[in-house]
Amino acid sequence: MNANQIQTASVVGAGTMGNGIAHVLSLSGIEVTLIDESADALAAARAKIEKNLSRQIAKNRLEASEAREALDRIGTATELTAAESAEVVVEAVPENRDLKFEIFSQLGDICSANAVLASNTSSISITEIAAGVPSPGRFLGMHFMNPVPVMQLVEVIRGLDTDDATVTFTLDLCRRLGKTPVEVNDFPGFVSNRILMPMINEAVYCLMEGVAEPESIDSIMKLGMNHPMGPLALADLIGLDTCLFIMQVLHRDLGDGKYRPCPLLAKYVAAGRLGRKSGRGFYDYRDA
Ligand code: NAD
Repeated sequence: MNANQIQTASVVGAGTMGNGIAHVLSLSGIEVTLIDESADALAAARAKIEKNLSRQIAKNRLEASEAREALDRIGTATELTAAESAEVVVEAVPENRDLKFEIFSQLGDICSANAVLASNTSSISITEIAAGVPSPGRFLGMHFMNPVPVMQLVEVIRGLDTDDATVTFTLDLCRRLGKTPVEVNDFPGFVSNRILMPMINEAVYCLMEGVAEPESIDSIMKLGMNHPMGPLALADLIGLDTCLFIMQVLHRDLGDGKYRPCPLLAKYVAAGRLGRKSGRGFYDYRDA
């Protein structure tokens, strides 16, 4: 299958990442079906895509007609069966093992035998998810960065049984989307979150232990380490639930105490302070 010739894709999960993945797929000329169990999430995703396309027009990166056509190429559905004719499916449901197993076991039955199935998982083993997919050779990790329309990188994760042709197709698809793919092997957290998440987790420990206030922690990492964003503000952007899920995967699968999720992170998630998406995390976005 040639990535430059495919015409249809599905994205499962229309949250923080799913709307961005649908956005870039559609802009490359692909008809996209965005699937979410929640009709409200689908409506919010469409509004977000429209807003982000408008931003690109305002920055002279896109013509208004291109944005309209891209929006017209995105359909929505609440049932997974809507992925039936997709040549590639990217899954972006929450970072929960059992949920991902369930989605891919259903997609295995729904999609054609040639379709490439990809997970946007941040940390869960691609090889492990692949074991539940009828054809593990056409399954792999396609890890986009947040916010998807802006960030260059896609980490492409090869599972133990991923076919070479599937990897080649996905690297080409990333380039068609204007992204830069980097291939890695399957290991918990891959490269990006193996390094990023322990840093965010340590920043939360600093906060919990009273070393400094959130603004000070973030200022130190921005001004002292030249990071564009402080770790706590970044955690709010990613979603604190997603950060906690990833730390739990690293802790469990690598078996090393250095990955212990910070109890304050777990406490915020339990309280529903999930970051930007819920209006409040380490910072307050309710008036933003
Ligand atoms: P999110 O919570 O913002 O969105 C998840 C969406 O999935 C929600 O809209 C939810 O309604 C939907 N959903 C839940 N169960 C479903 C089901 N059974 N069928 C269809 N839809 C369902 O999550 P997110 O931040 O977009 O993360 C999605 C995936 O991307 C996770 O695996 C995460 O680890 C990964 N990821 C996240 C980021 C980030 O910065 N947030 C970055 C890279 C990768």
